[in-house]
Amino acid sequence: MILREPTVQLVAFTQFQTVPSIAWQTDSDRPAEQLVEFAGRMCYQSWNNPSGRTNQEYITNLLRQGHLSVLEHAQASFAISGISRSCSHELVRHRHFSFSQMSQRYVAEEEANFVEPERIANNPQAHAIFVAAVEKSREAYEELVKLLGEELEGWPDRRERRLIARQSARAVLPNATETRLVMTGNFRAWRHFLRLRGSRAAEGEIRRLALAIHRELVRLSPACFGDFQRVEQPDGVIELVTSLTAD
Ligand SMILES: Cc1cc2nc3c(=O)[nH]c(=O)nc-3n(C[C@H](O)[C@H](O)[C@H](O)COP(=O)(O)OP(=O)(O)OC[C@H]3O[C@@H](n4cnc5c(N)ncnc54)[C@H](O)[C@@H]3O)c2cc1C
Repeated sequence: MILREPTVQLVAFTQFQTVPSIAWQTDSDRPAEQLVEFAGRMCYQSWNNPSGRTNQEYITNLLRQGHLSVLEHAQASFAISGISRSCSHELVRHRHFSFSQMSQRYVAEEEANFVEPERIANNPQAHAIFVAAVEKSREAYEELVKLLGEELEGWPDRRERRLIARQSARAVLPNATETRLVMTGNFRAWRHFLRLRGSRAAEGEIRRLALAIHRELVRLSPACFGDFQRVEQPDGVIELVTSLTAD
């Protein structure tokens, strides 16, 4: 199957529990926002809030000041599919996230999906070249798994035999091969990711992924991610822009 858009599902996020010994109230009912404000107030023991700041105002001030370590307490995990191995290669360069990615050794790729870049999809001739190329790679993979499996006939462990065949045969699968993963990070890391990968300088596939992740993060915490605006450029490219430069 040819895929063109990533699938992003929020699968886990921070919970917050009040501390009975600390008399403090916030107007946010979102656990991540409560935790960020709580952690910020811990720094100055400012539990009284005499100025009557809202949670949103409190967090915006943290973002403006660059007091960003406070955001590291809140976390979000996403299940991501429909992205290419080239996109995941860019993702894993971000060192403050945790990843669990589908194995090409344990999972057979005979039925692999492929992610088609938008520009290729929009050009019928390029699309035909793409489809023929990925199909040929898939066939070569299948043939290699079969051939190497036969060569290893008699190998004592059948499961290991399959692993050995797959780990060699995957060499012919293209960058476009779909991968799936779980990606977990704290809100500071997500902000950094959105700023770099939501920019028009980023490659199209990872930028669309950043847009999809931003959609979920802003639902989870408008105070922590609502400053990023989706801006459509004259050439149709949508990018994420924030006026808060620190990340
Ligand atoms: C448009 C674009 C083009 C790119 N092109 C290329 C390319 O051609 N080739 C290539 O190899 N990569 C390329 N990259 C990847 C880029 O170099 C980074 O590896 C990637 O964006 C992760 O960013 P980061 O290092 O800022 O972030 P993270 O790993 O997410 O780290 C976040 C921040 O933590 C701090 N940090 C993390 N680790 C260290 C450390 N060891 N020392 C000091 N500070 C640290 C830094 O402040 C860093 O910005 C590109 C990225 C973009 C957005």
